[in-house]
Amino acid sequence: MNWLEIDKEHVWHPYNSLPSSTKLLPVKRTNKTSIFLEDDKELIDGMSSWWSAIHGYNHPVLNEALKKQVDIMPHIMFGGIAHENASVLSKLLVDLTGLHSVFLCDSGSVSVEVALKTAIQYQEAKGLKKYKFIACEHSYHGDTLAAMSVCDPQNSMHSIYGTYLPKHIFTKAPNIGFDEDCSEAIKSLEETFVKHHKEVAGFIIEPVVQGAGGMRVYNPEFLVKARELCSKYDILFIADEIATGFGHTGKMFAVEHANIKPDIMTVGKGLTGGYMTMAAMITTKDVSDTISNSNLGILMHGPTFMGNPLACSVAIASINLLLQSPWKKRVLTIESIFKEELEKAKDLELVENIRNIGAIGVIELKDGSYAQKIQDYCVEHGVWIRPFGKLIYSIVSYTIKEDDLRKIVRTMIDAIISMKK
Ligand SMILES: *Cc1c(COP(=O)(O)O)cnc(C)c1O
Repeated sequence: MNWLEIDKEHVWHPYNSLPSSTKLLPVKRTNKTSIFLEDDKELIDGMSSWWSAIHGYNHPVLNEALKKQVDIMPHIMFGGIAHENASVLSKLLVDLTGLHSVFLCDSGSVSVEVALKTAIQYQEAKGLKKYKFIACEHSYHGDTLAAMSVCDPQNSMHSIYGTYLPKHIFTKAPNIGFDEDCSEAIKSLEETFVKHHKEVAGFIIEPVVQGAGGMRVYNPEFLVKARELCSKYDILFIADEIATGFGHTGKMFAVEHANIKPDIMTVGKGLTGGYMTMAAMITTKDVSDTISNSNLGILMHGPTFMGNPLACSVAIASINLLLQSPWKKRVLTIESIFKEELEKAKDLELVENIRNIGAIGVIELKDGSYAQKIQDYCVEHGVWIRPFGKLIYSIVSYTIKEDDLRKIVRTMIDAIISMKK
């Protein structure tokens, strides 16, 4: 069997059947913002590996950081042991977020699990029995069970898991559009808080852009109001910045658009520049002190690969590289190119809505049945995107060349134009 046949027989892919019901592209290597297939065909990468490869692939600085670390210490357990890489990374995260206490973990979903557990333990420590969360419709917070329980119930098909998923409280998502009026969603939010606050430990939200649940860019006013309500009712504000963090919306973290500080933040995806699986839950001194001074006195989590030195080394290198680069200027340039190019899709018959912010550009179609055909067209024409349903979108590395970015959007639009029933 060649390796593709083995894949077909034995290997699951994300949200797929086995064997895969959709075509899988055999990839041989990557370089900068390109993906090379087995037959050496080059694709411009319009996905940045699910929003993680913020500097592009095979960056010499990140490669060097990993190579150096592997000879020093690839991994060591974190229980009862400290190492410099974890400290240096945590201090960078503290300085960037203005928060205080860092929990390093394996993946975005796990960081959301840790955030939810932290919120419950915080409320417990204060003698409160608050076990529910408020989340937004169209939200996405990960694939593990607790993370899933705060995802949009329809999108993530809560019904499949019967009584296994805890039931949380969902509030109306703000309308699409950074400048759109969101007063109706704010009104529902307020009613939800008034009605349920006594049982609610935390409010979780993806700031400014709801990602995998619908690529919905919304007005930061919603976050300002949510912050106010959380403070009023002693509910922890959990900002899930796994997708938006490290510059994707033109700010280092999307909460900065609203000028608010969350009680808990989760980061992942871009944290290691797309090299290693790692995420973090970061919280305030008040939250960590409250838990640490409780009867239990400890935060009940501790994965085997917590603080993995290889992942820390590349995360440190990635953050420093970002800070030393003109990232904000780059992202704002990307934003204006997306805006200019997407505008050309506005009046197409199939198009419902276009929207963009930072390194993110989205075309929403009226019909969800074209996703695979549009993807095939783009691949044929040298562009890698992965639409879902009605959403044809691109999230690019900040190092992408202007011509390549224009080609991504133009190919997306050509693909849409070429679709015939
Ligand atoms: C991707 C994502 C997650 C889950 O991260 P994984 O690393 O895939 O587990 C959680 N929240 C948001 C907002 C995400 O975009």
